[in-house]
Amino acid sequence: MELWQERSRNSILCSDLVAQRFGLDSHALAQVVERYPMRITPHQFELIRQADDPLGCQVIPDPRELLDDSLLVDPLNEEQLSPVPHLVHRYPYRVLLLVAGSCFSYCRFCTRKRKVGCSSMSVSLGDILKGIDYIAEHPEVNEVILSGGDPLTMSDRLLDDVLARLSRIPHLQVVRIGSRAPVVMPERITDALCALLRRYQPVYFLTHFNHPREITEATVEACQRLVRSGVIVANQTVLLRGVNDNSETLFKLFHTLYRLQIRPYYLHQMDLTCGTSHFRTRLEDGIAIMDDLRGPLSGLAVPSYIVDLPGGHGKVPVTPDYVQRLGDHARLRAADGTLVDYPQS
Ligand SMILES: *Cc1c(COP(=O)(O)O)cnc(C)c1O
Ligand code: SF4
Repeated sequence: MELWQERSRNSILCSDLVAQRFGLDSHALAQVVERYPMRITPHQFELIRQADDPLGCQVIPDPRELLDDSLLVDPLNEEQLSPVPHLVHRYPYRVLLLVAGSCFSYCRFCTRKRKVGCSSMSVSLGDILKGIDYIAEHPEVNEVILSGGDPLTMSDRLLDDVLARLSRIPHLQVVRIGSRAPVVMPERITDALCALLRRYQPVYFLTHFNHPREITEATVEACQRLVRSGVIVANQTVLLRGVNDNSETLFKLFHTLYRLQIRPYYLHQMDLTCGTSHFRTRLEDGIAIMDDLRGPLSGLAVPSYIVDLPGGHGKVPVTPDYVQRLGDHARLRAADGTLVDYPQS
């Protein structure tokens, strides 16, 4: 067994243990876990100081998850956009292939909270092959995004098999892998994995840091191994109330990622997912943060602030209100607040 598999086996699944360690009500925790699974990797568990710190909030079950039944179970309408199980085809030229049903740890704010780690999400090799057939039969598809769950919960051997099959589809040009492993299970990013990915270039790797405290010696090393192997690493962050919803935290996060050659790609507004409302921020909070970042932060380190519209309408950028008036003359608002006339003819 590889080290990461052993570490994965030692992940914390027992809510009593978490309750004990952080002084929480174990009955309340157990109730949440009955509905939404809990899993915390040893790496994460060691970093959490208190249940309500930025790392604890992300993975320790919260009774508020059960109070919120108003929001949507499948906010992005993914089930409707699935021509075959576990494949989402929303944009014309790229598809999302959910190749894994579980993750190394379960984020309490997850969009696919309705099914990650549950039996309805378990993906068989047969399902994956059907997804690959679908891509082979659709010549317009030039990119596949491997997601889940976490694709890196697959063994190297299975991942290699999937990538080899994909690489034989002539019209498929780019593979993207979305994985939180570098952050929560850095042991997973082995030299063997990097060598494997290198063989299937171009591979884009999208990881998921939400807070500067997640950037540790081990996570940095994991990302550097990927970067050294020629994989382009980018990052998506979810804007989370009480975790990272302020300019200072995000400035530090994005700048540090940038310095590590990890390009901040998206800052996601929380989806309207059932059981996650205690994490949601208001749109104007996100807009104000983006407004603070633009200017002080290198342009290359500024992500797009994105809302994935409910109902499967796709992602749209939310930008600060730079354009004040249009017509013959536009008026643009500078970062320092000055309104500058900008002729259009
Ligand atoms: C987010 C998403 C993508 C990728 O979109 P990009 O803007 O290219 O990152 C593709 N398909 C689906 C269904 C998605 O939700
Ligand atoms: S790693 Fe991604 S898919 Fe898995 S629980 Fe977290 S947000 Fe959801």
